[in-house]
Amino acid sequence: MLLAQARQDIVTFSRKLITDHLTVGTGGNISIYDPEKKMFAISPSGIDYFDMTAEDVVILDLEGRIVEGSRKPSSEVDLHRIFYQNREDICAVVHTHSTYCTVLATNHMDLPASSYLVAFAGRNVRCGDYAPFGTRDLAEKTFSAMEGRKAALMANHGLITGGTDIRDAYTVAQQIEFCAEVYVKALSIGKPVILSDEEMDRMIVRFGSYGQKKER
Ligand code: 13P
Ligand code: ZN
Repeated sequence: MLLAQARQDIVTFSRKLITDHLTVGTGGNISIYDPEKKMFAISPSGIDYFDMTAEDVVILDLEGRIVEGSRKPSSEVDLHRIFYQNREDICAVVHTHSTYCTVLATNHMDLPASSYLVAFAGRNVRCGDYAPFGTRDLAEKTFSAMEGRKAALMANHGLITGGTDIRDAYTVAQQIEFCAEVYVKALSIGKPVILSDEEMDRMIVRFGSYGQKKER
């Protein structure tokens, strides 16, 4: 079976999307890219995350052709593929329908630097222009909103994040949803104070050495 570890990680992290309240039903999708094989594993379309098994995960090449798997891949194949084609820093993509990110995206609002934790994604998180789910148009609009960032809001839809691996992309999704929740609540009682670009640049550098040393 191709990309066996990636398949298993997709099952594990898809279930976490539900238990961590980062999505609802079969909303959202996850993929993991193997830069050596130039293939990626992606969750199947519309299968309950607790019914999904590693065999249900679909393997595609960078042209979007199915290499292995009998299931229909996620309807957002192009949304994931565009990052693997164009961003060397991204080897995993997580798309969620998490509540507070979707609240901001419903208003076509960006998430500003309301917390230092926004630096998990960059200086801020932009909201891309609206396009229908599952379209190349949505992939292109979201890709440009995520320029120089590890996350973007998808208008009237949800959140997308990218990372060097699945843990990285998933952490960004969790932290950005937390920041969005706090920002929306802060807006409801006052006027949130936004950190400067200079401060955020310092935080981005700091996150480079945050936590334990990475094993290579
Ligand atoms: P899939 O089940 O096809 O991955 O679609 C879910 C979704 O979030 C579409 O944007
Ligand atoms: Zn979606």
